[in-house]
Amino acid sequence: MVVVGAGVAGVACATELARAGVPVRVRERARVTGGRMASKRFDGRPADLGAAYFTVDDPDFAAVVDRWRAAGLAREWTDTLVA
Ligand SMILES: Cc1cc2nc3c(=O)[nH]c(=O)nc-3n(C[C@H](O)[C@H](O)[C@H](O)COP(=O)(O)OP(=O)(O)OC[C@H]3O[C@@H](n4cnc5c(N)ncnc54)[C@H](O)[C@@H]3O)c2cc1C
Repeated sequence: MVVVGAGVAGVACATELARAGVPVRVRERARVTGGRMASKRFDGRPADLGAAYFTVDDPDFAAVVDRWRAAGLAREWTDTLVA
């Protein structure tokens, strides 16, 4: 199976395919993965130019995010956004 694009949707799709035992390859045209969630480096420092945060409502996505948190890939930011 081939997944085109290594944004969050493509990587999530490929992850689930791999977890189901389906051999999968991800094709990405950019130099880095992440798509609109990719970070750019300025003077060696990473900066998020696209998505900076996400919210979690769906229980299945919550389970995925729990794994990200356990792996140190995501952390809680705030539960209150004030305009
Ligand atoms: C400035 C900005 C701020 C944002 N802020 C937030 C936020 O705070 N919270 C939030 O939840 N969302 C935010 N978003 C939206 C969020 O970033 C996107 O909804 C999400 O990242 C989209 O993921 P995706 O995998 O669907 O698509 P993309 O991230 O666009 O990934 C698609 C990937 O496919 C690749 N690709 C496309 N065509 C081909 C091809 N023919 N061959 C190979 N590779 C290909 C692209 O290079 C890209 O890497 C923001 C977006 C922007 C631009």
